Amino acid sequence: MFAFLSEPGADGVGVAFTDREGGASEGAFAALNLGRAGEDDPAALSANMTALRARLALAPISVVHQVHGTTVKTITRADLPGPDDWLGASGPSRRPLAEADALVTALPGAPLAIRVADCVPVLLADARAGVIGAAHAGRRGLLAGVLAATVRRMRELGATSIHAWVGPHICGDCYEVPPEMQAESCAIIPELGATTSWGTPSLDLGAGVHAVLERDGVGVEHHDPCTRTTPQLFSHRRDRGVTGRQIGLIWRAERGDRSDSRG
Ligand SMILES: [Zn+2]
Repeated sequence: MFAFLSEPGADGVGVAFTDREGGASEGAFAALNLGRAGEDDPAALSANMTALRARLALAPISVVHQVHGTTVKTITRADLPGPDDWLGASGPSRRPLAEADALVTALPGAPLAIRVADCVPVLLADARAGVIGAAHAGRRGLLAGVLAATVRRMRELGATSIHAWVGPHICGDCYEVPPEMQAESCAIIPELGATTSWGTPSLDLGAGVHAVLERDGVGVEHHDPCTRTTPQLFSHRRDRGVTGRQIGLIWRAERGDRSDSRG
């Protein structure tokens, strides 16, 4: 079920990156698909989410309709979802998801998730301030500044010392791009430049994410095997677009609610 899991300790923050194992989806979506409704069987998607939440004893998880942009959605009490609201307009509530590529919240017991299958899931927290975030950093969003926008919003909510966890994504050995795209990308974030294992231009998204966060004063740790070469992970490129999604998930334990001191 997990490529990486760190359950809430003394600081009250839990972090997880899921993998494909332990779900009800079949075929190209087997097994723990947490992707978009409309591609996979809604009953299987719902069962997968129920199993994940049961394993971690979590409240319903907030997600967004990811569009490779820089919009950050702040989750307030009014935004807290019902159990199947993550399925958006095709779910039972028919409520469309907000278009955004990052979520932040200062609410305890309000888990946030980003869905990926090669792009980089980035989870962030200032445990002491009680502020968490999750961002979708593919090439386009990363270059456009989605991580800076997420960090900025977290600081507006009171975060001062932010730590980040970088999850599974396609690696620099595998993420081949046209030479012009590599040049354009490296003009903005030089650390992105890499070469595939077969000798062609590529992008190292993990290195790019790391550099951007570090320049912004964020501490970074990596739990990021390559999606393309790890069979237990969904990969958009390896599976030629027909595949499921794993998630990066971050939450604060409810019990931290009253004892946290802000700032
Ligand atoms: Zn790779």
